[in-house]
Amino acid sequence: MSPASAAKPVPRPGAMKIEAYVPGKSKAPAGVKLHKLSSNETPLGPSPQAIAAFRASADALELYPDGSATALREAIAGRYGLDAKRIVCGAGSDELLSLLCHAYLGPGDEGLFSEHGFLVYKIGILAAGATPVIAKEKNLSTDVDAVLAAVTERTKVVFIANPNNPTGTYLPFDEVKRLHAGLRPDILLVLDAAYAEYVRRNDYASGLELVASSENVVMTRTFSKIHGLANLRIGWLYGPEGVVDVLNRIRGPFNMNGPALAAGVAAITDREHEEKALRHNEEWLPKVTKGLTDLGLTVTPSVGNFVLVHFPDEAGQRAPDADAYLTSKGVILRRMEAYGLPNALRLTIGSAEANEAVLGHLKAFRSGARA
Ligand SMILES: *Cc1c(COP(=O)(O)O)cnc(C)c1O
Repeated sequence: MSPASAAKPVPRPGAMKIEAYVPGKSKAPAGVKLHKLSSNETPLGPSPQAIAAFRASADALELYPDGSATALREAIAGRYGLDAKRIVCGAGSDELLSLLCHAYLGPGDEGLFSEHGFLVYKIGILAAGATPVIAKEKNLSTDVDAVLAAVTERTKVVFIANPNNPTGTYLPFDEVKRLHAGLRPDILLVLDAAYAEYVRRNDYASGLELVASSENVVMTRTFSKIHGLANLRIGWLYGPEGVVDVLNRIRGPFNMNGPALAAGVAAITDREHEEKALRHNEEWLPKVTKGLTDLGLTVTPSVGNFVLVHFPDEAGQRAPDADAYLTSKGVILRRMEAYGLPNALRLTIGSAEANEAVLGHLKAFRSGARA
């Protein structure tokens, strides 16, 4: 045998360092009603108009979609008063985050994110062959000083989820501006605003204003959360012309499919449905937070559509025990080991029925232990 026959394809450096992303579970035991509260999906589902647009698009599946997503970019631009030329759409914001990594990072470069930041950043950085660097957090929130202190001459991209998943905490806009002011102009600041629509704080801004006034900031958004279209994979990004040009060169020419484009236009135009989803969250986020606190659990104050719940360090009462108990009752939460929070679970605000169910089961779980 020639030595060549023992050879096999070798991936680029970094690929094998990636721990594959583990999505939220979605299985209940047989015969038990499932409440999936593990992936921050909306209990209201998408706008009925988005569903109708999706169905109508089934009549033209043989045609290639509009590769430049013109109608969707224009609908988004109209909704937020933006320049459509500076919007890029992607198959979920995950695709855009990954494209940013491939465009701006390579071997020897560093991508920076915070301690309990969204795991997709690390995957993208490693996939690009670059080195992930992690900045410590304070009280489960991004610490601007720690991020700035972690910058080196190799830093090329800084990722901030604002609000952050899985902690639910946020950086006030003044802090985002302070972070931006402390970065070299050749470092790209990525503001991932997947939950922006849910935030009700006067000192919060998603970052559109900063994107408009600088050359090194992009903001990503998604249709997966408040718009309820996670299954169709729709994300968008607002950025400076230079970054938009690069992404339009490296992305797949037809990275968005027609049914997603059609449903996306309908969803972003249906303000009433978005308001309804927001009101549901405004009602239940405080109720669920209080319900959990009343059970002696610690909840990180959240501005998103989910809460991070911390369990006591007591035999039988830790997060994995609660997770096993809830799973047996058909209530699925998200385990947090991968985020370095082994004694916490992340709970998505669900329907009234699901929220009551999780609070009821946790009450039984907590009192069972005390008995
Ligand atoms: C859910 C989420 C996204 C959205 O991902 P999509 O690929 O658009 O579904 C992005 N960032 C964060 C922090 C998220 O939690």
